[in-house]
Amino acid sequence: MQQARLRDEVLTHALKLNSSGLNQGTSGNLSVRASDGFLITPSGVPYDELAAADIVYMSLDGDWKHDLQPSSEWRFHRDILRAKPDVNAVVHAHPTWCTALAICGMDIPAIHYMIAVSGGNSIRCAGYETYGTEELSAAALKALEGRTACLLANHGMIATGPSLARAMWLAVEVETLARQYFNVLQLGKPNLLPDDEIERVLEKFKNYGLKGQSFSHDQS
Ligand code: 13P
Ligand code: ZN
Repeated sequence: MQQARLRDEVLTHALKLNSSGLNQGTSGNLSVRASDGFLITPSGVPYDELAAADIVYMSLDGDWKHDLQPSSEWRFHRDILRAKPDVNAVVHAHPTWCTALAICGMDIPAIHYMIAVSGGNSIRCAGYETYGTEELSAAALKALEGRTACLLANHGMIATGPSLARAMWLAVEVETLARQYFNVLQLGKPNLLPDDEIERVLEKFKNYGLKGQSFSHDQS
């Protein structure tokens, strides 16, 4: 029963991912922790053709039984969920501004106090690896050390969170930071915020909103 609700949640957020302009076509994928494993979008199926039953359940060992294949990126979804117990949802997309920076292999530095949504003073860009590989998963995990989001070189971005709603919110924030950084680079050299200011903002974020019901993950 609870899994049925989580399947609907994946479906709703998959549609939102494209309608928000963050993603297009069959690019991107989403997962959410469920029971001892996770639910993940199937590979190569347009989101507007998806039914809740099409969402694939996988164990943390990477096993599944379904007519459809799980997303080709199941490895990094699985590895992130395995490595980070506080993460219950992973959103991967190819948003234009994040991807533009990632094509240049650029991290996003502390251009704005909102960089702290990443859990630190930068959003790292993971080195390029072929999509769907263990190597890409390892590169993503490295870029996500102490961070909630990262860019993927010549590919896109990953945002994580305690719930799908929260991971989606973060994906929008990261794309906004990427757009700001891209634009500011046309103007010249940005003034970066110092580490002690980011520490202060991280402290303030502990008591800042975002505690709504839709941001919590209930799989009981
Ligand atoms: P899937 O359709 O297999 O989820 O792949 C999309 C993608 O973004 C690969 O990186
Ligand atoms: Zn991708």
